[in-house]
Amino acid sequence: MKIKVYLVALIALSTLSAIADLSYIDTSFSNASPLYWEQGEDDSIQIYLVYDQERDSVNRANGHWHFRVEGTPGSKLHLVLNNLRNIWNGHPGIPVSKKTICNVSDDGHTWRTIQTELIGEQLHMDVTLKTQQLYVAHMEPYTLSDLEKLLNEIHGNPLVEISNIGKTVQGRPLEIIRVGKADAPHRILIRARAHPWEPGGNWVVQGLIRSLLTDDPANKRYLDRYAVYILPMANKDGVAAGRTRFNLAGMDLNRKWDKPADPELAPENAAFESWMHGLITEGKKPDLAFDLHNDQSGLLHLSRPKVNLEQYLADMNRYETLMRKYTWFTEGHTGGSFHNPGSFGEGLLERFGITAFIQELNANWIEGLKENTSAKNWELLGAQYRDVFYEYFTSIP
Ligand SMILES: [Zn+2]
Repeated sequence: MKIKVYLVALIALSTLSAIADLSYIDTSFSNASPLYWEQGEDDSIQIYLVYDQERDSVNRANGHWHFRVEGTPGSKLHLVLNNLRNIWNGHPGIPVSKKTICNVSDDGHTWRTIQTELIGEQLHMDVTLKTQQLYVAHMEPYTLSDLEKLLNEIHGNPLVEISNIGKTVQGRPLEIIRVGKADAPHRILIRARAHPWEPGGNWVVQGLIRSLLTDDPANKRYLDRYAVYILPMANKDGVAAGRTRFNLAGMDLNRKWDKPADPELAPENAAFESWMHGLITEGKKPDLAFDLHNDQSGLLHLSRPKVNLEQYLADMNRYETLMRKYTWFTEGHTGGSFHNPGSFGEGLLERFGITAFIQELNANWIEGLKENTSAKNWELLGAQYRDVFYEYFTSIP
């Protein structure tokens, strides 16, 4: 009898041996994505991402992945990501393409890009463990602790004011960072990370903030002309929980800007809007406002509500010309019929008459640099924005 038990145990062990190189996939840390996994028939590791779902809607989203593989140093693993049948604005869509990259890191700090292969609706990738662990993420992650570090670094700088404007669904504080003088002649309002899977905007605003606070003599000239107001991480709860698109009440923070935000379900938007009302009441309406996102194209999104768009389109044309002159941006803008009702850009334009738009950042590739995306390249864009803003306001009294 004892021998029989021993034999059964041996058989069980031998079936496990095919994944002996893999010990565990850790998703216990901040910004790790919810998932489950199993061994595939071909010794692959099949990873099933868990969809993020929108309230009162058929919409669902995957596209964020961030996890830590633990296993035998030197081993090679074939990972396959599943559940990429998203529904966006009521229509099916796959959030990855043949150009989708992945990033890996041995320590969670220094990242390198690897290529993926899209087969059907599955994203395949080969990874090698140099040590006992390997972090795997779509794009170079920017987490709550990165933001904390930035806030601590700039706190107390005479050119910086950090205001708490409210709380997320889970009670995390939301802050607006002003860089520049309160009485600057012009104001630019930037929001980042409404969608948790999109870290690009966080790196961009970090690059902008840090570059404006260096002792570069040009900064005085910039800050005599404008101040920037930044909500760096609109969807903190979603970032912490490793979600893809919605807030923790299932709301898309880049929708429903055509009317006042629901303070219960979208407190992140209600706080932002009420703070912005305050700014407008003080006679400091933003001259320019934009929302930073990642997608697979990287266009400027000019959404067209039914208002007189003549001045808006002329201003945006001038803005895009300056983007091409001073930054690596080359992607262009959405065409003549593009209309995304309730998006941040359209809502601020329609309801407040603010020159507002969405800036998408290609998640994978920067054509103007002929390089893959990275934290470094996005921070560079942030620094390059300084001249765009400066010259944009040259001809505006
Ligand atoms: Zn987005």
